[in-house]
Amino acid sequence: MVLNLTNVISGKLSQMPFEMTLTLDLSDFEVFGAEGVSPFQVKGMVERRGVELEIDVHYSGTFNFSCNRCLNPVELKFERDLTKQIIRQGGEFIEEDEQSLFIEDYNVDIERLVVDEIHLSMPIQVLCDPSCKGICPNCGKSLNEDECTCSEDRVDPRLESLKNFFSQN
Ligand SMILES: [Zn+2]
Ligand SMILES: [Zn+2]
Repeated sequence: MVLNLTNVISGKLSQMPFEMTLTLDLSDFEVFGAEGVSPFQVKGMVERRGVELEIDVHYSGTFNFSCNRCLNPVELKFERDLTKQIIRQGGEFIEEDEQSLFIEDYNVDIERLVVDEIHLSMPIQVLCDPSCKGICPNCGKSLNEDECTCSEDRVDPRLESLKNFFSQN
């Protein structure tokens, strides 16, 4: 959703609250392993402070993943408050940083802003629990529920030859 700031930029309004529900495109997040996404609740305010414009945004929603080790479903909540200074793109080139948001005309693309922030906060690894034991690569059993017997049956070949070496003497 695009917010038109004409009234705050012109000084007609000093504040402009907004509230929306964003339906995010899951395909933007599949590269991070996301398998589902809830609608995101977004609200905030654009405010004029002297000659400066500031935007406050709060968003919250959830993404569904699979645990990277055991493949159990994991739901992660994404929630953030952020404040940025709105800078209207002029002639000179200034690099946009975390505190600033550039706009080219009178509009702020709220969806783009939120999607960019979510991208930055996507986890590198998703685990159902930091101590998740994962799945046995041999029998496929989830090791969180039960110990499998694979490790007992399997003898490390290096130990096997060592065992033979000692039994020869
Ligand atoms: Zn897990
Ligand atoms: Zn096993």
